[in-house]
Amino acid sequence: MAKVCVVGAGISGVACARVLREAGFDVDLRDRSRAPGGRMSSPRMTWSSLGDRRIDTGAGYFTVRDDEFRTVVDDWLTRGLAREWTDTFHLLPAADGSPGLGDPKPGPMRYAAPGGLRSLVIDLAEDLPFSDATGVELVDANASTPRVDGEQFDAVVLAMPDPQALKVLGDGLEEERAAMTEQAWEPILALQAVFPSRSWPAFDAGFVQDDDVLEIVFDEGRRRGDDAPVLVADSTSAWAASRLDDPDAAADPLAEALDRILGCGRPSESKVSRWTYSRPATPRDEDFLFTPRRIGFCGDGWGTSKVETAWRSGTLLGRRIVREMA
Ligand SMILES: Cc1cc2nc3c(=O)[nH]c(=O)nc-3n(C[C@H](O)[C@H](O)[C@H](O)COP(=O)(O)OP(=O)(O)OC[C@H]3O[C@@H](n4cnc5c(N)ncnc54)[C@H](O)[C@@H]3O)c2cc1C
Repeated sequence: MAKVCVVGAGISGVACARVLREAGFDVDLRDRSRAPGGRMSSPRMTWSSLGDRRIDTGAGYFTVRDDEFRTVVDDWLTRGLAREWTDTFHLLPAADGSPGLGDPKPGPMRYAAPGGLRSLVIDLAEDLPFSDATGVELVDANASTPRVDGEQFDAVVLAMPDPQALKVLGDGLEEERAAMTEQAWEPILALQAVFPSRSWPAFDAGFVQDDDVLEIVFDEGRRRGDDAPVLVADSTSAWAASRLDDPDAAADPLAEALDRILGCGRPSESKVSRWTYSRPATPRDEDFLFTPRRIGFCGDGWGTSKVETAWRSGTLLGRRIVREMA
């Protein structure tokens, strides 16, 4: 049976690897990190007031439109791994520009995970052969069959943002390389802020209006369901772009912006996560790319950047490989 190396154990790579494995392929799933999850990241952080607590530092929630993804999510709900969080975000700040809540904005149901979003990817990756801390350096498209760091495979999947895929892609595939180089990816700096107590109006999350610094704010305690006094605030991409070299220096200005918008005061502790490639600047029409040289590309860069899109992209690429190679 064909041997496929899937590089990248975010939700797209894991979804792809599952399809291949279920079709009986010999799958080798690799990631440079110690655990699957990618941008669905929920590291355990140590805080003096809270002790150890996982915080979602990347994706803040997910939504569901696709029927097949709904089946996956229903299974997570049944087993208590995911939960319905909220269908109402707010606008921030208040309508007159003063700190606080603006109008509520009803929308689709947003789902969260009591164990952090990463736990969902770890669940999907269960039983898959996973090599952690295995950073791939070179995918060679020129040989008769693709090679990953010199090792031969029947097909290779790069399940990651385009700039990360381009970094490991050797010569060949010049047309695809040019198309991927054109796609810009935007950065985000995410503030995790712990407060002595909950000192802000009740809300789940807020879209920040017309602000240079902040784009969205989450009440992490309500998202997780334990009511811990923790907020997570994502910067705008333009603001992050010039501050990627020193993310720690962004903590104070991000906390200041949060107070200005919400009136929450200053946090007692905070940290900043840097996402250099948080999302593609523009969506693509294609769901994935599978080249005649049997190198595939999937992830949230294929479609509209979302958890659901990434799952779908990996799943569809997996099926395409099965159709061509089984
Ligand atoms: C701050 C932030 C907020 C977001 N908010 C939301 C949200 O609220 N809702 C939503 O639906 N989506 C959100 N997203 C987007 C969502 O996180 C992504 O769409 C999804 O997680 C992408 O999954 P992926 O598998 O395509 O890529 P990734 O999760 O990025 O996975 C790529 C994997 O490849 C690995 N990798 C890269 N290079 C190598 C290499 N050379 N060798 C080995 N491994 C490598 C990485 O370590 C990573 O694990 C957010 C993202 C960010 C950053």
